Amino acid sequence: MDADCLFCKIVAGEIPATIVHDGDGVLAFADVNPQAPVHVLVIPKQHVADVGELAANPAAGTAVLTGIRAVAEQLQLASYRTVLNTGGESGQTVFHVHAHVLGGRRFGWPPG
Ligand code: AMP
Ligand code: ZN
Repeated sequence: MDADCLFCKIVAGEIPATIVHDGDGVLAFADVNPQAPVHVLVIPKQHVADVGELAANPAAGTAVLTGIRAVAEQLQLASYRTVLNTGGESGQTVFHVHAHVLGGRRFGWPPG
């Protein structure tokens, strides 16, 4: 755990969140500022900063992918968008890697 990390505090139960899925090495919870009818964040329970670090932690990477699938099945999302922002210019604001799972509406391409 990183003592200064918002999402580590959610994993530790120190900050409340609406939990959608609590799995082996993975936690999924509702985004506080939803951008679609469904907007869930899927994170490894282990502190991993971004996709680059996730690639170096295969167990955490697998846990995130498994969590994405679990959320999609649980919420019966036939179609959904998964976003992993990496670095400030992409829009990453929390440096504990998280997959946004967005659903319940049509999405444009390319993204903004
Ligand atoms: P990103 O900009 O890709 O780093 O995504 C960070 C996301 O975390 C944003 O969509 C925020 O709305 C969301 N967020 C920030 N604080 C919380 C929180 N306490 N609980 C749930 N989601 C949060
Ligand atoms: Zn963290």
